[in-house]
Amino acid sequence: MEFDRKQRCHYSDVLEHLKTYFPSPVSDPILDGYFVHSISRFLDQVDSLKSAKPLLGSGIKNDHYEASQQAVFPEMISSVEEVTGLLAEFCQGMTIWSHPNAQLNVIPPPTISSITAFIAAAMYNPNIVSDEYSGRFSEAEIQSIAMLSDLIGYDPQLSGGLFTFGGTGTILYGCKLGIEKILGGRGMQEGIREDFKIFSSDVSHYSHLTVLAWLGLGMKNRIAIPSTSNNEMSLCALEKALRATLNSGDKVAVIIATLGTTDAFGIDDLAAIVHLRDSLVAEYELDYVPHVHADAVIGWAWAAFRDYDFEGNPLGFHARTLRSLTDSLVRIDSLQMADSIGIDLHKTGYAPYLSSVFLIKDRSSLALLSREPEQMPYLYQVGHYHPGIYSLECSRSGAGALAALASISLLGKQGYRVLIGHNVEMAEMLRERLERHACIQVLNDYNYGPVTLFRVYPPGVDTEKALHRELNDPGYRSQLEENNLYNRRLFDLIYERVMQGEGVLLSWTLAYRYASYPDAPAVAALKSFIMSPWTDLKAIDSVVNQVMEVREQISRS
Ligand SMILES: *Cc1c(COP(=O)(O)O)cnc(C)c1O
Repeated sequence: MEFDRKQRCHYSDVLEHLKTYFPSPVSDPILDGYFVHSISRFLDQVDSLKSAKPLLGSGIKNDHYEASQQAVFPEMISSVEEVTGLLAEFCQGMTIWSHPNAQLNVIPPPTISSITAFIAAAMYNPNIVSDEYSGRFSEAEIQSIAMLSDLIGYDPQLSGGLFTFGGTGTILYGCKLGIEKILGGRGMQEGIREDFKIFSSDVSHYSHLTVLAWLGLGMKNRIAIPSTSNNEMSLCALEKALRATLNSGDKVAVIIATLGTTDAFGIDDLAAIVHLRDSLVAEYELDYVPHVHADAVIGWAWAAFRDYDFEGNPLGFHARTLRSLTDSLVRIDSLQMADSIGIDLHKTGYAPYLSSVFLIKDRSSLALLSREPEQMPYLYQVGHYHPGIYSLECSRSGAGALAALASISLLGKQGYRVLIGHNVEMAEMLRERLERHACIQVLNDYNYGPVTLFRVYPPGVDTEKALHRELNDPGYRSQLEENNLYNRRLFDLIYERVMQGEGVLLSWTLAYRYASYPDAPAVAALKSFIMSPWTDLKAIDSVVNQVMEVREQISRS
């Protein structure tokens, strides 16, 4: 049926046609077949965008944005076929995260089961604000939270939590809860009128600042604690800063420990931070306990190794990998000491965006966030589940919760050990190969994770000395800035090669660290983040070879 501007159609005719735009409410082989066919056409069209490159179609063209801004709201209905083609077009430029040559960032390829969960949620459209609108999707939220509590070692009788809008949402919940614990929940009604202080390391994620800004505290109330060369929060500096705040009479609302920093996989000493908090509460006789939130959105998955037999090593990891994993695990094992934890399934959990959990040791404290505090937040007893009483969001997609359940059920501890272990093993192989070249410095050689940061130097530079001076010598500033540009040039040339269909897509971080002197410039770095089960030694060798070849190319030019 054709509908155009001139043709007059009674609305009921159009409506009949529009019904074919929806999956059928009752079993109907013809309409059901049309739905499956539409999805399969989409998959075919996207498939034709694949090449040797680790991305779909060609890269993003900037002139698209100008045309996009001119878009107008369409007058007439279109067809499912036309829009399917449109959707496939919009997949252009997407990195294929599972490609062995995509080593960009902590972005995973989602498992088939977690994708199916998203399809289920898209089709049946649950709102987990209440079980009234979400059937058993609510149960998926409760179950995945129980499973994650079990994984990290919380007491599932006491723990709880909820899915929210990304890692930033988990930080927001952690900080808001820390403040309301001090205010006894009064802030919900009266607002926040005090300068509560929130502490996190200077290499922690910028979302900590976002949260302070949006909570109304302002970024000025975030106290950045210097990090050590291992990219973990300096404990002496933290103690000094906490004492200074307490001595001044200000309140320490939250200490955020990062377990797995975004750029270098630095892991804060959470156990020591909790002990320090406890001893200061006693010494200062505080009438509140500062909340400790663990930003473990990346590092949580390492908890799958808590009961791995490292002696027997049944999965057969290399010695270097085992050492990395045990070193990380020592820290990750203390997650259960945190008052709350942020977990991103869409990072190291192999689920699609968004699937983030705010996990809390004592779920009864969620009552502090209730709009009606006299009501208990968890109403299991009468068989009803109303997280909407204390959740920030009203419409809450069930996709993230079901996808978490799907990936966790599919992979189990064994699957996560293999995937994470493989990422670390490949990263270790990469570091070993990079270390063989005198012109390359691996920057995060103490941080044992799937990410490798490195800097390349031009011929004739003593690289070890150069890096030391870059970090510490104000007289070396202009050389540092020049070396940043040199590495950027290298990164751009590598990117060009990848767009020609050869080589490994890396990423770039403007500030791996800041130099140690006042008004310090940033030290930039090339970054490889391995997340794909398809990344193999061939892909690792290509990273090193392409760096050396491009360096050669720069020398010649
Ligand atoms: C990614 C990240 C965040 C923010 O999480 P989103 O899911 O991107 O909102 C917070 N902290 C750390 C350490 C992260 O890596």
